[in-house]
Amino acid sequence: MEERFSIKIIRKIVFISIILICIFSIGVKASKSDVNYVTIVFPEDYETTVMTSKVKVSEILSENHIIVLPDEVVYPDQDSVIDFSKKITISKVTEAKKIVAEEVESVTTEELLGKYVTVTEKIIVEQVEIPYETITKDVSREGTETKDTVLQQGVNGLKEIKYKVRYQDEQEIERNVISEKILKEPVDKIIQISTKIVSRAGRRDSAMSPEAIAASVAGVTPTVTNLNTSAYCACMICCGKTNGITSSGAPAKEWYTIAAGSGYPIGTVIYIPALADKPNGGWFVVEDRGGAITNNKIDIYMGSHSSALIFGRRNLECHIYQ
Ligand SMILES: [Zn+2]
Repeated sequence: MEERFSIKIIRKIVFISIILICIFSIGVKASKSDVNYVTIVFPEDYETTVMTSKVKVSEILSENHIIVLPDEVVYPDQDSVIDFSKKITISKVTEAKKIVAEEVESVTTEELLGKYVTVTEKIIVEQVEIPYETITKDVSREGTETKDTVLQQGVNGLKEIKYKVRYQDEQEIERNVISEKILKEPVDKIIQISTKIVSRAGRRDSAMSPEAIAASVAGVTPTVTNLNTSAYCACMICCGKTNGITSSGAPAKEWYTIAAGSGYPIGTVIYIPALADKPNGGWFVVEDRGGAITNNKIDIYMGSHSSALIFGRRNLECHIYQ
């Protein structure tokens, strides 16, 4: 009874062992056949998963009747073996990829080395003059002779410009303005164009009659003052020269020309009532200057030295038209 029991157990053990061996060998066989699930990705992102025992890419594709077109590429390469990702990607060779490939090829060794040349940056500050502007104010009457008067002189201004300058091999390759600061504003030059005033005195000449001279100052209130009056002629004694040309440039004329100090501009009309009986009716025009002539002294031009001496020196009331 005990012996039978042990035989039964042995049979059971053997049976279980056989089953275990069978299961084990099936497992070994399965692992040897190496069945894989491979994902194939097509252009336009469509993908499918196939079950295969093959490992070479070209074989997996032909097994699944997949033909690679001439404008398509396969990754991994058709001749290679499927890798751990278990994925085959088929994609179109695009124009963009071709262009990139060409560009990469065209980069020369020199160009690549050039990218490693040191580029330095410096901040540079420069001071630059700001030129002044000229402003013209025309206040003249149309069709008249004009003159220019500078009312304000122009002065250049100054500004400071800060640049960022980039150098490559000490050669400036780029310059950018960072900031600008005005240190001094320029001052405009102002020119006024006005009508040239021709004074009434300037329009007088020795050919004018006493009446015409009087008329030329009509309406002008004279300054009445007593002046130390003497006479002179065109001789060396009186003038140190004999040409008879006055300071105004006009030839001296008897009973017309008077020499006066700088307080009386050339062209000033002087009426001397005490000489109203003379050929000029007492009307004189300042045309000359003289070394000894001061503002309270006048000298009347005479045709001869003797006449001048006879006139002598007198204190006379003078009407000065300015
Ligand atoms: Zn003289």
